[in-house]
Amino acid sequence: MPAAKAQTSLPRVTVFSTGGTIASIPSGASAASPALTADQLVAALPQLDSVARITAIPFRQVASSELTLGDMIALAAEIELAVAGGADGVAITQGTDTLEETSFALQLLYGGEAPVVLTGAMRNPALPGADGPANLLGAAQLAASPVARGLGALVVFNDEVHLPLFVRKTHTANLATFRSPLTGPIGWIVENRPRIALRPSVRHAIRLSASAQAIPQVALLKAAIGDDGRLLPSIVSMGYRGLVLEAMGGGHVPRAMVAPLADLAQHIPVVLTSRTGAGEVLRGTYGFPGSETDLLARGLIHGGILDGPKARVLLALLLASDAPRETIETAFSSIGTPGTESAFRWPAP
Ligand code: ASP
Repeated sequence: MPAAKAQTSLPRVTVFSTGGTIASIPSGASAASPALTADQLVAALPQLDSVARITAIPFRQVASSELTLGDMIALAAEIELAVAGGADGVAITQGTDTLEETSFALQLLYGGEAPVVLTGAMRNPALPGADGPANLLGAAQLAASPVARGLGALVVFNDEVHLPLFVRKTHTANLATFRSPLTGPIGWIVENRPRIALRPSVRHAIRLSASAQAIPQVALLKAAIGDDGRLLPSIVSMGYRGLVLEAMGGGHVPRAMVAPLADLAQHIPVVLTSRTGAGEVLRGTYGFPGSETDLLARGLIHGGILDGPKARVLLALLLASDAPRETIETAFSSIGTPGTESAFRWPAP
């Protein structure tokens, strides 16, 4: 029978659900919270039948603010199992609030060839114009497509394909919330066809087993006018193993913050990023107290293009894998400076 024949020749895609708006429905008078699992999301989208043979796996059922890097390490292991079991690609549904962090973690943790595509929704299934079904369809189409093989983790949203390294949630409610300010999307989906227009030249990798030690806490602070840095001396005693600083502009802080930052950098890695949301931290433009040259000379690590949340993901994964200081610096200079053509791999092969 031709229909059955076509069905069995379709690629296999595993869909993992983790919660988020795409899976959230209101209950009685209560506002929406995650309730639907992967099989329910898949069952509500009959169009998937002509895209792939789907296996639906509920992984977590939470708002994405509850997800952790430990969850991502466990999910990377599940993805590898699914691929070893014959999946041609993987789609992951999750909340949008932290998609830019979880997708970046999976970009680093997952080294396989099969595409891993994350998506979510801004409007829950009970709202008019719910975007979850279209986003899940797009994610499954990309996961099933040979054009995405070898690219690792990707984000599909609003018919655009983004690289986790660049993508950010930029709006609290707009359906076009995901943007890659430095590069734009690397592809799109049109009339059910995924297109990849740009391909990254290198893939970075950090390997952590599912039994890795607990992920060390890394603090994330944003500099603001008049801040005298009085929180900084408490960071180590509070148990943080690293600090990511979102500095002003090209990497600047009020001069009162310089001494406590320099002191902290003697004890734990302190990564200098920018709060602007796009562009590289500068290296040698300004020389005033609290400038990028001042802070880098005092031992802060250059964060490249990584914003605070992504730099925090990278530093936490490196610390969890016992990377020494030189390796942490190398990781930030190669991952944080795309276009330098050096793939970072840790542990080194
Ligand atoms: N607003 C969120 C979402 O878009 C909630 C979450 O991230 O779980 O899914």
